[in-house]
Amino acid sequence: MLDCIFCQIIAEKISAETVLNTNDIIAFKDIKPKARVHILLVPKIHITSVQTAESRDQAILGKLILAAKKAAVKMGVLETGFKLLINCGKQGGQEVDHLHIHLLAN
Ligand code: AMP
Ligand code: ZN
Repeated sequence: MLDCIFCQIIAEKISAETVLNTNDIIAFKDIKPKARVHILLVPKIHITSVQTAESRDQAILGKLILAAKKAAVKMGVLETGFKLLINCGKQGGQEVDHLHIHLLAN
């Protein structure tokens, strides 16, 4: 998706502060952090939203949560705790139309 900012980060056309990078998931620091730790977990395939996710996306959706756990370990917040948040659609507060999980911790 040429006009998708997260696809451009995945394609390394826009830089980001990467925390994790696997075959199918990238995690990077949010550019406008809303907590001391604010990481975005993003599948490398373009899925617009939970609203458009399908059964074929089941594996990657599961991997995203386990990647969030890995990012929590890396950021030193696994034991103290954190929030995972998915905004879904315009009224759900989703601004970037490429499915992602926010990992937030103070
Ligand atoms: P959402 O509102 O759930 O779609 O979240 C999108 C998030 O992406 C926001 O918290 C933005 O601050 C963040 N964001 C937008 N552009 C970038 C970027 N180039 N690098 C890192 N984070 C970004
Ligand atoms: Zn995208």
